[in-house]
This record gives sequence, structure tokens and C-alpha cells, in this order.
Amino acid sequence: MRAILVRETGKPEVMRIEELPSPTPGAGELVIDLEAVGVNPVDTYIRSGAQGYAPKLPYTPGLDGAGIVSAVGKGVTQLRPGDRVYIAGSLSGTYAEQVCCLEGQVHPLPKSLSFAQGAGIGVPYGTAYRALFIRGAAKPGDVVLVHGASGGVGLAAVQLAAAVGMRVFATAGTEEGRLIACSAGAHAAVDHHAPEHMDELLGQLGQSGFDVILEMLANVNLDRDLTALARGGRVVVVGNRGRVEINPRDLMGRDASVLGMTLMHASPEELGRIHAALGAGFERGVLNPIVACELPLDQAPKAHHWIMEQPARGKIVLMP
Ligand code: NAP
Repeated sequence: MRAILVRETGKPEVMRIEELPSPTPGAGELVIDLEAVGVNPVDTYIRSGAQGYAPKLPYTPGLDGAGIVSAVGKGVTQLRPGDRVYIAGSLSGTYAEQVCCLEGQVHPLPKSLSFAQGAGIGVPYGTAYRALFIRGAAKPGDVVLVHGASGGVGLAAVQLAAAVGMRVFATAGTEEGRLIACSAGAHAAVDHHAPEHMDELLGQLGQSGFDVILEMLANVNLDRDLTALARGGRVVVVGNRGRVEINPRDLMGRDASVLGMTLMHASPEELGRIHAALGAGFERGVLNPIVACELPLDQAPKAHHWIMEQPARGKIVLMP
């Protein structure tokens, strides 16, 4: 089978297509023929060895994907060859024609979703769910800001928050991104590159501040986020690419909190609950992954350039 292999960390071009043996499933494992592969920012950090990542080389990148089960190992009870599935994590890496996974990493893909949409579920929706409900403890009726709503995680968060009756505000860097965020369920969206964007949001709010802010770029926004929280409000740091100075008095005056969130800390039991909830949302059509573009697998380097350098408008997906 064809797969991307990284033999040394570095720029996107270190990802090259190679011919590798097809995986065979061990006990409790499945092999999936991949139709679509999700590209996430973390794939670029691991590939470049940034943010403390030191991958064991050589390796095939990728955590997300969707396809059809082709083989199951002993003890697999919930899925069978021929099932349409999406993947949230794997044993062998998803930038490939085939992938080997543990049964708990594979979930049914509803008929209403395309494979490309299925490739945009694992990291983005898992992260959005854990940040919003588990770390942020957001509840129906809360006022939520998704700060960076045009990308994979942000759009998932907008859909999840809107689906359970939160009042959702959003930011995006382009007009297209703001329109997508509003069609995903945001009440209003502003430009996070505009210096006064937080004042504009607070003006529209009609209350003192946000109950929860999901933050995609904390090093740029955290200091100002703290001034935009309601009493008892929470900022959940989902994304961060540098250092930031804050005034802790902004927290004291509001009984407010800043919470970190890393999806990789979710236990298998927690992930099971998250994907049960997501599956119900996909089945009933209230959640709907948004695909920005589809590229052939051998254009993985271009996908890594785009996800780090271009404005977001949903998920970038590779098609093996
Ligand atoms: P993505 O699809 O590349 O989207 C990036 C988002 O960040 C876009 O909405 C972009 O908006 C927004 N952004 C750019 N400049 C911003 C600013 N000044 N203020 C606020 N937002 C800004 O990435 P993603 O998959 O949604 O992930 C978002 C971030 O979360 C990344 O940093 C990623 O590494 C991180 N993440 C963390 C976890 C975790 O476990 N903690 C899991 C998944 C992702 P425009 O392009 O419209 O400007």
C-alpha cells in the first residue's frame, strides 16, 4: 500500500510517498481502507519536531480518517468488514491507503456523512467537545465565544454549542470564515485581526461578558479575553503558539478561571462517551463537518503549508 513516510523531522517536504506492506490486524485491532484523511495542525508540529514533539522515526503521520473496514482481528465485536467508519487515532498513522487501529479508535460513520466529512471528526470534534463541556463546563443558556471559529475545532465548537442552546459568538480572520461560522450556528461573528473586535462583541452581547471563551490562539488573545468574561467565567486554552502577559486582577475581579485542555489526556472511557455523544449528533443531523478542500495524498506537503499559512474555512482533507 502507498503511505506517507517521514524519515527525518523538518519542513513539509520531508513527507514522501512510499510503498509499505499492508497492515494485518492483531487481537482487538482492525484494518481500514482509507477513503479520506484529516489534516490537523498537530500533524505539522510532530512532523517538524516543534512544541516538544520528538516522533520515533520513521513514521506515518495522521490521527484522523474515514473509510471501510477491510479486516478485523480476534475479539473485535462491534465492527465488521464492509462497515463505513471514521477514525480517531490509530496504531500506524492515517496518511496512507490503509491503517491499523484499536477497536476503540474506530466509530460508525453515518450514511448521511461523506468520507471527507468523516475525516474531519476525530481531533476537531473531540477537542471541541472536551473543551466546551468537560473542561469549560458550559451549559445550555450560557453565552460562549469561540475565538477562532473558522477552523476545524472552532466550527465543531460552534455547532456543538448551538445544538444544546448556548448563545454563540465567533471570530474569524476573513469574511468567508465569518459567514461559515454564522451558518454553523453563531449568532454573530467579528474579525479577530481588528484591534477593537472584543469591544464590538461586548457591545452586541447585552450582558457583562462571556460565560465561556474557547481560545484558539491564547498567546495573542488571552490578556484581552480575561477582560471579557462574566463573573465565574472560564477561558479554555485550546490553541497557543507563544508566550503572553496577563493581568491576574482581571481574574480576581470576576472569580474567573483559565483552563488548559489537551485532547490526548482524555481517557479511553471519556473518549467513548465523547464519541457516543458526537455519533448521536451526526445521526440526527445537528452536527455536520465542513470540508474546505480535498487534495490527493501525495500533496500532503501542500496541505501542511496551507493549514499553517492560509486563512481557515473548515477542514483540509487528503484523498488516498
Ligand atoms: P485550523 O483549522 O488551522 O484553524 C485555525 C483557527 O485559528 C482558525 O479559525 C483561524 O482563523 C484561527 N486564528 C487565526 N488567528 C487568530 C487570532 N488572532 N485569534 C483567534 N483565532 C485565530 O486549526 P484547528 O484544528 O481549528 O485548531 C485550532 C488550534 O487549536 C491550533 O493551534 C491547534 O494546534 C490547536 N488544537 C489543540 C488541541 C488540544 O488538544 N489542545 C487539539 C486540536 C487543536 P482565520 O484563519 O479565519 O484567521
